[in-house]
Amino acid sequence: MVGTEAATTPAIRVAVGSAEHDRANGVLEAAREAATDVHIVETGPTGAAALAPVVLATADDRTAVHANVSPDRARELVETLEAGDVPTDDAHAVAESDEGISMPKTGPLAAGQRHVLARCGWAAPAALDESLAERARDEPEDLFEAVAGAGLLGRGRGDGHTDESIAEGWETARRSDGETVVVVNGNESDPAVGGDRLLLESRPAEVLDGALAVAAAVEATDVVVYLNEDDDLAAQRVREAVENVDAGGTEIDVVAGPDRYIAGEMTMALEAMEGADRLEARLRPPGPSEVGLYGRPTVVHTPRTLAQVRAFAAAPDEFETSAADPGSRLLTVTGDGVTGPTTVELATDTALAEAVADGEEYKMACVGGRFGGITRSLDVPASAPALAGARLGTEGGIELFDGATCALEFAGARAKFAREANCGRCVPCREGSKQLVELLRDVYDGNFQPSELRELSRVVAESSTCEFGQAAPRPVTTAMDAFEREIAAHAEGRCPSGVCTETN
Ligand code: SF4
Repeated sequence: MVGTEAATTPAIRVAVGSAEHDRANGVLEAAREAATDVHIVETGPTGAAALAPVVLATADDRTAVHANVSPDRARELVETLEAGDVPTDDAHAVAESDEGISMPKTGPLAAGQRHVLARCGWAAPAALDESLAERARDEPEDLFEAVAGAGLLGRGRGDGHTDESIAEGWETARRSDGETVVVVNGNESDPAVGGDRLLLESRPAEVLDGALAVAAAVEATDVVVYLNEDDDLAAQRVREAVENVDAGGTEIDVVAGPDRYIAGEMTMALEAMEGADRLEARLRPPGPSEVGLYGRPTVVHTPRTLAQVRAFAAAPDEFETSAADPGSRLLTVTGDGVTGPTTVELATDTALAEAVADGEEYKMACVGGRFGGITRSLDVPASAPALAGARLGTEGGIELFDGATCALEFAGARAKFAREANCGRCVPCREGSKQLVELLRDVYDGNFQPSELRELSRVVAESSTCEFGQAAPRPVTTAMDAFEREIAAHAEGRCPSGVCTETN
């Protein structure tokens, strides 16, 4: 398939993602109409929404990366390439490569590293350069032992082993009774986190290949891909990839669940997959590795985890296996001053600040998705232990907020979300989130009680059944850590940011 060919082949690649779908499709159509000789390749998105629609014009190991391309400009790019020249005029970047993939060395596409993301924007979504699942089927113990030895950790809140050794979950599933199933939990449902959607739209073949490799390692009979019902493009591309990968007899199903934050939680995802009308988290133990989908041993991984497993299987020497959290983390940067969501990949020993473009100023950042931690500084490595030590979340999101953001108002909004979106199953989360909102509300009435807020947060975090409640108080406690004086000022009738009208 052309999408996987080297950078020597003259080709125009048009990156089409859901965020820029109609515009990018117009560009793709124009390029196809104009082309007679050069290949036109529809790829998935690059991860940098601000640059979309992106067109890559490649020949002779040179690639001109063009951003915000119109259909007319696409025709010109095709004509120039057909005339034998790489169209570098007005290019966002020009990249040289003798390694098969040319991507820029500056700008959002150059932030951090691009290993897991290497082919996003470059290869056709269903294209696969090498089946690592096939290798795993030949030698399943090799993959199992290598992953266990390296200590790879799960990625993302919807994973069965978030920030924990995934091989332990595999071992549990292998020991449990019943036919094991692998679930790809791709229902992210958090607008501030886009790593899974990016992988599903851009590299579904690699995600599936990773899932099939895991299936071989845990002796699973089938793989079920669980998506968000609103992610139409991801669903289409996953289905195309299903047709293209060599499943080696493993069944693959694609199903969808509701576009709700809780539907991404591991056990509520299983409930949705089983057709439950009302989503409630399951009590554990036993966890899904023992009793999961329809009672079967179930290995649940996010696309991010599976892409990481595949990257490790492809090039284990590139992983620092002595590290507490080997590999990389996908981080989506959004918020004030960010032109469009940008998903980048950082090695886990790299500071989060590397994900943020020069000139993007911020007063505070929320790291870790909807219930991430508030911080003034992004000088924190992207590894799970470092993020936990800084009381930030490991879910791959960095939201930036400028000086017009009030830390109290922000913490209150996240507490209200917890109150409104929880599944209602357990008291600490259901009632605790209501009390958190009320205690934060009291601040405006002159009654700021930091120790009560902290104690309530501790109880909710430690007693809640699922990760939703366990993480829900984090925006509140970390906002107090970083902005306690600003929050206290509200009790004196002042909002230092000038945001809270009740006090101004
Ligand atoms: S922690 Fe919240 S979301 Fe999870 S089971 Fe309890 S009420 Fe439901």
